[in-house]
Amino acid sequence: MERRVLISGASIAGPALAFWLQRAGWSVVVVERADEFRTGGQNVDVRGAGREVLRRMGLDDEVLARGTGEQGTRFVADDGSTVAEFPAATDTTSGATAEAEILRGELSTLIVEAAGGASTGNVVEYRFGDRITAIDDGPERARVSFGHADDEDFDVVVVAEGLRSSTRRLVFGAEVKLKPLGLVTTFGSIPRTVNDDDWWNWCNFVGGRSVSLRPDRHGSTRVFLAAQVDRRPYPNLPRDQSTMAMLRERFGDAGWETPRVLDALEHSDDLYTVELAQVGAPRWSSGRVVLLGDAGYCPSPVSGMGTTLSLVGAYVLGAALTRDDDHRRAFAEYERILRPYVERAQHLPPGTPQAANPITRRGIATLHTVLRIGASPFGRGIRNLFQRPPADDFTLPPMPEPAAPSVRLPER
Ligand SMILES: Cc1cc2nc3c(=O)[nH]c(=O)nc-3n(C[C@H](O)[C@H](O)[C@H](O)COP(=O)(O)OP(=O)(O)OC[C@H]3O[C@@H](n4cnc5c(N)ncnc54)[C@H](O)[C@@H]3O)c2cc1C
Repeated sequence: MERRVLISGASIAGPALAFWLQRAGWSVVVVERADEFRTGGQNVDVRGAGREVLRRMGLDDEVLARGTGEQGTRFVADDGSTVAEFPAATDTTSGATAEAEILRGELSTLIVEAAGGASTGNVVEYRFGDRITAIDDGPERARVSFGHADDEDFDVVVVAEGLRSSTRRLVFGAEVKLKPLGLVTTFGSIPRTVNDDDWWNWCNFVGGRSVSLRPDRHGSTRVFLAAQVDRRPYPNLPRDQSTMAMLRERFGDAGWETPRVLDALEHSDDLYTVELAQVGAPRWSSGRVVLLGDAGYCPSPVSGMGTTLSLVGAYVLGAALTRDDDHRRAFAEYERILRPYVERAQHLPPGTPQAANPITRRGIATLHTVLRIGASPFGRGIRNLFQRPPADDFTLPPMPEPAAPSVRLPER
């Protein structure tokens, strides 16, 4: 009998699992709380085993072709002079600027299209503007209630809703913990000017703050403002006037390109503020419900591993569910194989992320000295410590071949 899966969340992890399960013959429904497919989001990178997953999906070349074109990471002083430069990686794993850098929305689109597109009626059925409100987990099936649709039965429910997942809270309650990293970040897009180039330009300011400007291929510049939270209250706010007021209050005295960035952000339509955190879940499944991607094991953007874990997690869960009809055994296998990799990814370099956002002028001077040594021919140890996440430290299990459709020969 056809197996039916509900996946909640249509960003990276959810569509990647949809790709593998529809290929294996499952009936796949994806529900997304946003009213339409979200194309926004800033620069994400894919590394190591995540690149191998892209290759097996037939998407790796396309991801490289649609990359942001970032040439490397450059730290600058507040007068604009260069402190240290780290060119983009030429291998699949290392580098603050990885070999595969792409905008989140573009990667998400590629994955969705690879499984037939996001319009209802295609191979994977996408439903926008809805969410799970209850799950009645039974021995035969899970009965799911939605905000705007009738109840339906599924064999498996996958929660791929990102860091602050509400279905995770519904099923796992307080069991899953968020570990805040003490850094609040605001992302946004602004028009590119002649001052911008194809490097990730990063400038530190006293008070545990930094401003980053990154290229894309669309004539805009991607902005990333970070501030240590324990220095001053800086609540997690939705995009509205008070976010801008907070940014002006927090960054109003900062030099370099910051005044222009703040002015331009007033007109940005994709401003997005989040306090960085990691997700710690003692178990990833409960009955027929399983956590995937950031919802289950977000390592935070500073790890450089979030998108990689989502792709690898979707692949490993897809392989386990394809191989085994018993969802409990499949979930156990998924967790057994993936958890050590997740633990390595969540293990951040010492002092991260505070070390990259020092409080004092002296702290910034020390950081700059370390970066200069790191960028020199003798700085390999420093580069490996901060720019080499354990992305290739994982062997993907084989993906079972999709079952051939059974053909009944006509009777003679
Ligand atoms: C709009 C957006 C912008 C981002 N920008 C960046 C960035 O600039 N840099 C970076 O490093 N990372 C960014 N990320 C996070 C990055 O995509 C993830 O860290 C990583 O790729 C893991 O992806 P994920 O699919 O597990 O989770 P996410 O990418 O967080 O996706 C979760 C999806 O679930 C949906 N969702 C949430 N709650 C519900 C619900 N209750 N019901 C149904 N759907 C729900 C969300 O709308 C989203 O589409 C962004 C994510 C989003 C959604």
